[in-house]
Amino acid sequence: MRSAGAAYDGKTETGTVRRRFGTEETVKLKIGCISGDGIGPEIVGEARKVLERIAVRYGHEISWTDILLGGASIDAHGVPLTPEAVQAAKESDAVLMGSIGGDANTSPWYQLPPDRRPEAGLLAIRKELGLFANLRPALLYEELADACPLKKETSEAGFDLLIMRELTGGLYFGARKTTVENGLRTAVDTLVYNEYEIRRIAVKAFDIARKRRGKVTSVDKANVLDSSRLWRAVVNEVAADYPDVELSHMLVDNCAMQLVKDPAQFDVILTENMFGDILSDEASMVTGSIGMLASASLNDTKFGLYEPSHGSAPDIAGKDIANPIATILSAAMMLRYSFDLDEEADAVEGAVKQVLKEGFRTADIMPQKDAAGSGAACRKCSCSEMGSLIAERI
Ligand code: NAD
Repeated sequence: MRSAGAAYDGKTETGTVRRRFGTEETVKLKIGCISGDGIGPEIVGEARKVLERIAVRYGHEISWTDILLGGASIDAHGVPLTPEAVQAAKESDAVLMGSIGGDANTSPWYQLPPDRRPEAGLLAIRKELGLFANLRPALLYEELADACPLKKETSEAGFDLLIMRELTGGLYFGARKTTVENGLRTAVDTLVYNEYEIRRIAVKAFDIARKRRGKVTSVDKANVLDSSRLWRAVVNEVAADYPDVELSHMLVDNCAMQLVKDPAQFDVILTENMFGDILSDEASMVTGSIGMLASASLNDTKFGLYEPSHGSAPDIAGKDIANPIATILSAAMMLRYSFDLDEEADAVEGAVKQVLKEGFRTADIMPQKDAAGSGAACRKCSCSEMGSLIAERI
């Protein structure tokens, strides 16, 4: 048996290479599991069900380590993140996470000082794990095209893009201050990037484009900002090592327009922290289905933290009605990006497409019946039924 963790020490240990040489060895997946708060335990339970099915189907072995974070950790230990939890995450090859947090108006967690609240734990673990690259795919499923708020001809064309956002630099981490100058309140934020930070995220974007359709659009504001001019120069340097990947540059204001006008033109969008923050929410919204959107945060090894883009939905927690697909697709990203098990990731994504095609829907993606009766062909299912249906199709 081979540990997938050993993949970090050399490329020859990855699942990809295992397949290239045609040997069918068992890969051991050491996965940390943060069930989280609200609907977290329900949706993570379904993603685990799907991963267990993958393990049986492809002959791999999964070892799970449960890790407490956020509200669940506050309840157990009085703090949103313990050193033991950080250690357990670091010892895993990858971490699967449900969302954390509760209802800010009613949950006692929000009576605590800000640094003891659930979200403080999330920020701290991201920092501890050195997660500098955030990946948010936005994919419009043909079966859910009615939920897309874009023009019919745009939604009918479909789209499948991924936003790669730099997560630990730029405006959100630069020096800032508010002063009074000549009697006027004056605020300054600083947007700083060095070439190392730009290069490492660009490399990730090009590597991931190779696993997709081989296209990177780097988004900046190089007509105004020095940081963007450096961004563009370094991205061009990295591109020289990837002659098989097509690179183009786009200004951020144009990109915001193009995302609603013609999202099908994009494969991987590479951008800095603040632009990515805004564009990734825009890209999510154009799919129209929050329960379907996966995400991953990566560091400079194969390690990643995989979680749905949505929150912990305390309004529907414990009712077995949440949509587990975003978390299941996050698990597929884990197979692809942390373990290089592309065939297994394809199998999970294919199973999701299949259940949608067969008309199964959780409540959030169930079409409203109109006078003409559209939506009648769909069948509503619970969170646990949806997980089982997907697992059965692998
Ligand atoms: P939310 O995403 O939890 O919910 C927004 C709406 O979408 C709600 O009506 C909810 O029921 C629905 N929804 C979300 N996910 C769904 C799913 N899988 N299936 C069906 N419906 C779903 O956002 P919010 O209400 O603003 O935040 C709730 C809590 O989640 C807060 O404590 C917030 O801080 C936290 N949060 C955590 C993360 C994270 O862990 N990374 C991200 C965002 C929000």
